[in-house]
Amino acid sequence: MMQVYKFGGASIATPERMRQLLPIIQQTKEPLVIVVSALGKTTNALEDIVSHACLGEKEEALKLATDLIDNHINFASVLLVDVYKSQAKEKIISFSDELKAAIGKASGSKYDFSYDQIVCIGELLSTAIFNAFLLQEGFPFQWVDVRSIISTDDTFRDARVLWKVSEKKAKEILQPFLLSGKNIITQGFIGRSDSGASVTLGREGSDYTAAMLAAMLGASAVTIWKDVEGLLNADPKLFSNTVKIEAITYHEVIEMSYYGAQVIHPKTIKPLQNSKIPLYVKCFLKPELKGTIIQNEVDSMFYPPLIVLKKNQILLQVTTRDFSFVTEDNLRHLYGIFHELKIKVNLIQNAAISFVACIDHAEDKVHALINRLSEDYRVFRNENAELLTIRHYTPEVLQDLTRRRFILLEQKTRHTVQVLMSGQS
Ligand code: ASP
Ligand code: MG
Repeated sequence: MMQVYKFGGASIATPERMRQLLPIIQQTKEPLVIVVSALGKTTNALEDIVSHACLGEKEEALKLATDLIDNHINFASVLLVDVYKSQAKEKIISFSDELKAAIGKASGSKYDFSYDQIVCIGELLSTAIFNAFLLQEGFPFQWVDVRSIISTDDTFRDARVLWKVSEKKAKEILQPFLLSGKNIITQGFIGRSDSGASVTLGREGSDYTAAMLAAMLGASAVTIWKDVEGLLNADPKLFSNTVKIEAITYHEVIEMSYYGAQVIHPKTIKPLQNSKIPLYVKCFLKPELKGTIIQNEVDSMFYPPLIVLKKNQILLQVTTRDFSFVTEDNLRHLYGIFHELKIKVNLIQNAAISFVACIDHAEDKVHALINRLSEDYRVFRNENAELLTIRHYTPEVLQDLTRRRFILLEQKTRHTVQVLMSGQS
């Protein structure tokens, strides 16, 4: 059996951090597949390059690209010596060429395509360095370009994985290395479409890659190494008194990420659940701590209230113009419009002649939606709202978190309460 480890950007943000990961790898007995993100905030830096390149500001984009490459070379120089240094440098330079060519070809009319050709370089650079470092420290690792495995359609920036093809390639390409005693290091987040172009799987998509490779290769477990002690019941940046969860089911986690918790990439759970592979979330700063285990069943089904706050929401009230009822026909029509504009509805409720929907406030989408809805309905908007979701709520927690807030909409089931609220009442 083998295991999959995923190291996110924060765990390799500095050369010191990368060095701190060695004991974690050393202590692992089973063969390993390591899935790695881009260094620190590299993906954000690459997104900035995309913006300039697609606006036609190629000089600026190339200048930023040169800085980014220099940073990677400096990072490598701190960790590496001799052949390992030149090996890493050689790869960095070849990806630098790929990056510069992508900037040259980028255009605003093919924004999503251009984005993927540029942004995919982050993971290729980080793994080139990490691989050379692991070899230098005496670990038998094989570097693999994951684009030769993860095959997708060409929905750029949110590519859909062609499972069967990818699974076949994973087995053909990766298994022989594992059988010959080599561990594997590869990139998260990226792949290749059948047209040959690079693709990305959506921001924070490395978790998803780790889960896919684990399922395709029959791993015994996946561990996501983070800078927190495990999964918490709420985002510590937004709430005080968070508690760590010891064990939790896939079902709970998928619900939490559906409601907007940015804990684990939402697509990560399905492949693991389908193959019954446990997922551990552990802290790379304190690897001796137990972290959180996520699996199909857990012993104690007693959870603390799980809290998710989604900011920047807008509530649209859609009313028929002629006082006709909102019936199945209208709902079908309304949902058709949301579907057409690729807008996810976070909360809905309907009444006799109106329908309210809460969505993320992305102004261009909201604008298009309102235009479209106004053809047939009257639309009112209510901005600056926050959507609070609490699973396993208690009356006390609900009261505490909604105190002095103005409640726009509230929905309760036995386990879950959702409250859309704004400012102070
Ligand atoms: N580097 C990518 C991102 O920051 C993917 C990942 O970190 O999972 O979105
Ligand atoms: Mg990242």
